[in-house]
Amino acid sequence: MNGGSISGRINVAIDGPAGAGKSTVARKVAEQLGYIYIDTGAMYRAVAYAAIGAGVSPDDSDRLGQLVHNIDIKLAPGAEGQTVWLNGVNVTGAIRTREVTLIVSQIASHEAVRLKLVEMQRLLAESKGIVMDGRDIGTHVLPHAEVKVFLNASVQVRALRRFQELKESELVPLAQLEQEIADRDRSDERREISPLICAADAVVIDSTELTITQVVALILDLCRTKTVEAK
Ligand code: C5P
Repeated sequence: MNGGSISGRINVAIDGPAGAGKSTVARKVAEQLGYIYIDTGAMYRAVAYAAIGAGVSPDDSDRLGQLVHNIDIKLAPGAEGQTVWLNGVNVTGAIRTREVTLIVSQIASHEAVRLKLVEMQRLLAESKGIVMDGRDIGTHVLPHAEVKVFLNASVQVRALRRFQELKESELVPLAQLEQEIADRDRSDERREISPLICAADAVVIDSTELTITQVVALILDLCRTKTVEAK
């Protein structure tokens, strides 16, 4: 779409709390631009899943450090979003369970885990043409990203969206889900290393009353301006 010109490509960082719609929006923006979408939350989830499998406690820094030392996480574009490979095994569905969701924030607070994943994320974004979503992309992973968006929505709407995505076997009361999302936000916002905060130069989009199509259109507009500048 950009005539193969690397110089015309930009990086897009989309941050925000759980359930704000980041991954759906980021995937659609990437599709429209012909860019690669990278879901960094999936990488933290893969580490959490690996920790559960290896019997490593989410508060055991030393063992988590060893675990991530040789971990192999690969992300590949798939029809339904992104396929996630952990040490050669497809864990795309397995990393979305409640068991993983309940510990991932604690896993993501460890320095060794963040150092390793941030290094991988920066490598992935090196040649530009990336839409990356997460919590610290605009502030820390890609501070020079040409487009930075902070996508938010009320906690009630975010919980409802997640509730509607739950499989029957995983159903929990909406109020409980809302509480869990609020707890995860708090943990992500209060951690010492790269907490979830809005970058000073990010455009804030509140998606509470917007459709996915509207949010995607807003971000594509921001991208068009920056892509022209980058040429
Ligand atoms: O995006 P998702 O909700 O799947 O992310 C799962 C968790 O991974 C977040 O709650 C957060 O603790 C962690 N995460 C992070 N930094 C990122 C992406 C995700 O700490 N860049």
